[in-house]
Amino acid sequence: MIDIKSLTREDLEKILFKEGFPKFSPIQVFTWIYRKRVEDFSKMTDLSKKLRKYLSENFYFSRLELKERKISLDTTEKFLFKLKDNSLIETVLIPEGKRNTLCISTQVGCKYKCKFCVSGLRGFKRNLEAPEIINQFLEVEDLISPEKITNIVFMGIGEPLDNFENLIRAIKIFMDNKGIYLGKRKICISTVGITPKIKKLIELSLGVKLSLSLHSAISEKRTKIIPVDKKYPLSEVLTALGEFVKKEKFPVTFEYILIKGFNSSREDAQELVNLSKKIKCKINLIPYNPSPYFDWQPPSEQEVGDFKKILKKEGVFFTLRRPRGKDIEAACGQLRARFL
Ligand code: SAH
Repeated sequence: MIDIKSLTREDLEKILFKEGFPKFSPIQVFTWIYRKRVEDFSKMTDLSKKLRKYLSENFYFSRLELKERKISLDTTEKFLFKLKDNSLIETVLIPEGKRNTLCISTQVGCKYKCKFCVSGLRGFKRNLEAPEIINQFLEVEDLISPEKITNIVFMGIGEPLDNFENLIRAIKIFMDNKGIYLGKRKICISTVGITPKIKKLIELSLGVKLSLSLHSAISEKRTKIIPVDKKYPLSEVLTALGEFVKKEKFPVTFEYILIKGFNSSREDAQELVNLSKKIKCKINLIPYNPSPYFDWQPPSEQEVGDFKKILKKEGVFFTLRRPRGKDIEAACGQLRARFL
């Protein structure tokens, strides 16, 4: 039996074509699953009886089990899901005006052990399968109905580019115009900076947005909190991102957590300015969301203000995000950590 949500429409076309079903069958099946959200082949009434029988004998629908749902005072929501092997993953919904952004996990745990992030504390267990990625979207949209998810960011637990094939498969399904039909610019992949995979992504030219977890424009400093910077040095990551910008004709985003006494001095701001002049980019500043597992703190408002002033004076394109969902442990991996 095959999990039907592991297949792109192209994959399904190949299978159904070989079995001699009509050419439009995969479109019908996709519409039932991803538009009408029907997960029962016998209810797909415009499919031939023969096709319904074939599908139910060869395919199944997987689901995620909701373990906990928490709503923050600032409307951020966190969902804890249990997978078939009892692993736990988190998905976060961030409503903002007309937008509902879903922050999706791509792995169980994380290999990278960034020195500020809870996700890496318990190590890495496994990649999520494509249906486990897609089901985070489907389950949450079901729970918040009639509201819709408008944007996706791959900024949950794990490194999306390390789970490349399943990530791309899920993105193709999210973007399919007979299904969910999410626009390419409504999808953002956030990476710690895996140079070879960034290059692979450029080759595919999907048009999705790309964000780098930068956190310091000074490589020696970045290495201290992001150990993988040693393996994939910032200079090489930036070269790859430059190619991305050239090919996609779209700026990259730099995520920059402001950490007190570490990366929020005038010199840090100046280095960030210098970097931002070398590549077409937008910067997202986020004051550190404190966690009981680390000693880091966000800078004072005065310090954040000074940092912003320097960027502003130099004409850097940036936004200051407020940390969301503090009261529900919404920062990467926190809710899952409490359960473990
Ligand atoms: N591995 C990918 C995606 C997961 S991390 C990446 O590194 O981009 C998603 C984002 O959350 C990263 O920018 C990460 O640095 C940030 N993050 C993790 N813990 C945080 C915290 N306590 N406060 C603010 N941002 C945090």
